[in-house]
Amino acid sequence: MKCTIVGMWGGFPKKNEPTSGYLVEKDGFAILLDAGSGVAANVQNYIELNELHHLFISHYHYDHSVDLGAFMFGRMIGTYIGGTKKHLNIYGPADGDVAGQVEKTDFNTFHPYNKDSEIKVGPFTVTFHKNTHPVETYAMKITDDEGQVLVYTADSSYEDSLTRFAQNADVLITECSHYEGEDAERLGHMNAEEAALLADKSGAKKVVLSHLPHYGNLQELLQTVKSSGIEEAVLAETGMEIEV
Ligand SMILES: [Zn+2]
Ligand SMILES: [Zn+2]
Repeated sequence: MKCTIVGMWGGFPKKNEPTSGYLVEKDGFAILLDAGSGVAANVQNYIELNELHHLFISHYHYDHSVDLGAFMFGRMIGTYIGGTKKHLNIYGPADGDVAGQVEKTDFNTFHPYNKDSEIKVGPFTVTFHKNTHPVETYAMKITDDEGQVLVYTADSSYEDSLTRFAQNADVLITECSHYEGEDAERLGHMNAEEAALLADKSGAKKVVLSHLPHYGNLQELLQTVKSSGIEEAVLAETGMEIEV
């Protein structure tokens, strides 16, 4: 499978660079992980909105979900003007408000998931880990029909159960919201040392640091991780393609 980073900033978008969004594709089938600020606009560099039928939301913080409305209206209007006949399937933690908004927008369908869910779509099987974060949040594991594994942490404090969930991932996209020495746990996030520990304990073959901060020298995040012995690590960039 291939993962294209549609956006990777934490909290709010940079100029022309969205917050969280990851397009995962195999054999012409696509799913999108998260719909943060700017993702609905930027994802169209890689796929037509009418060709995307499955959208997984990790949690309802704005930097992961605020473009949900844009995707829903995109599908509604896209269907009325004849661009597609398929519904947009939106998967997210159970939430009455979100479910109601999706269901009252024509041609969109909401599917709640939880930590025990296993969702099969196209060549992908998606499973979930309940994170430690101020709102109900899930990491996602995407396994393709050849057994390749992509793990996306979404937002979370470091915890051992997450290392087990990410065990032996071919690619681990981990949040890395803070620099070494900063207290990220208090905010429900990971700093670079914690991201390195997650990468090390999970045994992931390749690590992508994402959900990056808007301050400091991002290369220092990478240095912290590499100096922990994680050699196959990169900083996420908008538009980056990762083969899994
Ligand atoms: Zn976030
Ligand atoms: Zn969050």
